[in-house]
Amino acid sequence: MKKFLDDNFLLESNSAEKLYHGYAKEMPIIDYHNHLSPQQIAVDANFENITVAWLHGDHYKWRAMRGNGINEKFCTGNASDWEKFEQWAATVPYTMRNPLYHWTHLELQRYFDIEEQLSPATARKIYEECTEKLLSKDWSVRNLLRKMNVTYVGTTDDPLDDLAAHQKIKKDEFEIKVNPSFRPDKAMNIDSVLLFNEYVTRLEVVVGKTITGFDDYIAAIKSRHDYFAENGCTVSDHGLEEMYAEDYTEQQLKNIFENVRKGNNIEKIDAVKFKSAMLVYFAEWGFEKKWVQQYHMGPIRNNNERMFGIMGADTGWDSIGGSVNIKAIAKFLNSLDKNNKLAKTILYSINPADNDILATMAGNFNDGSFPGKVQLGAAWWFNDQQDGIIQHLKSVSNMGLLSRFVGMLTDSRSFLSFPRHEYFRRILCNLLGSEMENGQLPNDEKWIGSMVQDICCNNAKKYFNL
Ligand SMILES: [Zn+2]
Repeated sequence: MKKFLDDNFLLESNSAEKLYHGYAKEMPIIDYHNHLSPQQIAVDANFENITVAWLHGDHYKWRAMRGNGINEKFCTGNASDWEKFEQWAATVPYTMRNPLYHWTHLELQRYFDIEEQLSPATARKIYEECTEKLLSKDWSVRNLLRKMNVTYVGTTDDPLDDLAAHQKIKKDEFEIKVNPSFRPDKAMNIDSVLLFNEYVTRLEVVVGKTITGFDDYIAAIKSRHDYFAENGCTVSDHGLEEMYAEDYTEQQLKNIFENVRKGNNIEKIDAVKFKSAMLVYFAEWGFEKKWVQQYHMGPIRNNNERMFGIMGADTGWDSIGGSVNIKAIAKFLNSLDKNNKLAKTILYSINPADNDILATMAGNFNDGSFPGKVQLGAAWWFNDQQDGIIQHLKSVSNMGLLSRFVGMLTDSRSFLSFPRHEYFRRILCNLLGSEMENGQLPNDEKWIGSMVQDICCNNAKKYFNL
């Protein structure tokens, strides 16, 4: 019997071991999309204990705890940090075969050199050992990134963010590059009239100008796009329940904007027209600046209205939606391509059934200008687990070029999530290694090893122009 989570974890053949240890393991990590706090990096924060680092903000763990019958008090409520950790430790043995079980123990090993499994019996000792380490400078957030050999961090930022934290990080000459991504979801979500108007009011303050109509609005948002570019941003990211590609006229956009500014609710079709237009503006600005654009599509969010009312978004009440509206995606990409304004594009769907659909759609818009210019994004969120990663790699292989895939990302809110890159790399090496062993791939360790290194790091480096 193999030891749990040993050096050859997930590696089932000699070739897989050679690929992982000889090629993948030491490659730097380019985490081009995540939700880490640039403020914490700017001040090089230390976490006060393992609960703060691990459980605050981690809706994956909260969902597991809720599923295990743990009271909300211990997830997001007012229990003490130790009590929350105790309940998480009690839950962990019940998470076997959920990726959390692997992630938890990889994280304990890689960051804290703890080989034991977390359970009620080990909870106190592990809590104290991790907390003691986290309080020392060697475990500050910058050092957590260094420990994992991270060389690039792409955060996710609202257009109204002042990017002061990013400026501070650059001023410090921190050797790990940390850049913002332009995520303008709130700037297009016009169907929530109250929130949209609040957003426009904040935008007026940020740009120091009164916004009296749609043209002013576009000019103001564009100035934030320019500001992000001045601050090192080269990527936009869009969180969409679905793709929007409805026809519209300039006059319609002006009317819709005016209507909402008067506080009126608008028809659904008008909201879709407005969102469609905003996506085109963002895409064209991104193309002019040679940015990469990413579209994260399909989750249905805040399904539990009662809990959303209590704790707001991103607290663990989201799930996989139906298939993406692929015709709208085709129409959107096609209109940009026709006008010669299609930037490098990564398409993600939360629904694993969309992998083949999106991979083949991406292939329609590769024009020979850059390897993998339009591609299917990595297994995301609920799909970031062994089966989901394999399914994704198979789609990319069968429908496109695995060798040109820009690789994994954490998409995480936690500084302790970086072993997910290792998890991905092991799965990738195992897949390729097993096919070398059984003669489906040639025994060309050098070439396949270099392909592994490209997928782990080099492709992203070139794609994101780092
Ligand atoms: Zn994300």
